[in-house]
Amino acid sequence: MAEKPVTSATILARLGGLVDPGSGGLVPPLQASTTYVRGEDYNLVYPENSYGRDNNEQVRLAESLICQLEHGADTKLFASGMAAISTLVSALRAGECLLLQSGMYWGAVAWIRKFCKHRAIDLIEEDSSDTQRFCEFIQKKKPRLILIEVPSNPWIKLSDIQEIANAARTAGSALGVDATAATPILLQPLKLGADFVIHSATKAINGHSDVLAGVISCANEQDPIWRHVCEERQGAGAVLSPQAAWLLLRGMRTLDLRVEKMSSNALSVAEFLQDHPEIEAVWYPGIQQYAQYDLAERLMPNGYGCLMSFLFKGGKDAALEFCRHIEGIHRATSLGGTESLIEHRHTIEGNVTGCPDNLVRLSVGIEDIQDLISELDFALAKTR
Ligand code: PLP
Repeated sequence: MAEKPVTSATILARLGGLVDPGSGGLVPPLQASTTYVRGEDYNLVYPENSYGRDNNEQVRLAESLICQLEHGADTKLFASGMAAISTLVSALRAGECLLLQSGMYWGAVAWIRKFCKHRAIDLIEEDSSDTQRFCEFIQKKKPRLILIEVPSNPWIKLSDIQEIANAARTAGSALGVDATAATPILLQPLKLGADFVIHSATKAINGHSDVLAGVISCANEQDPIWRHVCEERQGAGAVLSPQAAWLLLRGMRTLDLRVEKMSSNALSVAEFLQDHPEIEAVWYPGIQQYAQYDLAERLMPNGYGCLMSFLFKGGKDAALEFCRHIEGIHRATSLGGTESLIEHRHTIEGNVTGCPDNLVRLSVGIEDIQDLISELDFALAKTR
């Protein structure tokens, strides 16, 4: 008999080989029950199912598929990406240190700053793309938890996960990597030595802009931080609904295909933008002018994902004028959907991470590449 398929495309297209034992269907039935029956002996009729906050078949199926993609020991889904991040960070106690990459997703940064201040947690924000300096901080501060984002949003910086994981291990620190913009198809941080990988599954994992979800996978189920994550999700209740998990599974079937198309579209768009006279710089890991191109090739050899930022020579006014003239591509926040989205990031986040006001962030979707380039070209031509 052939060996079990292990490639992500095959796992996802077949939902891990699912056949519903109740009907023979190839699609999981939507089990929406919030509670499960007990027998006369008061034992659970199905021992794995007691109450909806922690027991749902669609949620478990989606978790097991993501766990396979990540090469993890365990995976838990949450009600949103922020629910996942906040649950992980809430493992820290007063007096402990959290080392955070500077310039991460601004919503996470804003929440973490407030949380750490209220809980007397020692928060340090440093640039993890400077590997040597970042590792020196790890040695010096021996943080309980290190949290980085690869690639970061919207700075599109990469971090040397392997080097940072080595330094973390020596210092007795745990390393978490938010790999939302990379997706589990293009980057598996656990294989590089990270302890946790986090995604906003709202983005490419679902991919259809119709589900809010978050996910964390771990390298070691016995890790005390992981035990906290599991207890806190069940206890505090930031769970994914069965309906959302069902939609997530539907979206995940095509994740591999979407990521491939988004990445090839994004590379073509970045190459087009980098030569344009109105553009000062393009931040995208796949182009040779990208400052960390060598690391990009090493970390993400199969593609660089959907997310890029580009900066206008004409400053904030030019960036906003470009956004005003764009037709077809929607002006909206978020990333990783089938549709491309454009955003003047400074308008959204203000000064939380120091995002330049001449920066436009683009999430490239799966549209026809010539359509995308013409839409960008049209708006650029009107931007003077
Ligand atoms: N992590 C990254 C990199 C993000 O971009 C976002 C949202 O944009 C989040 C986490 C938060 O995810 P959610 O919106 O699902 O809470």
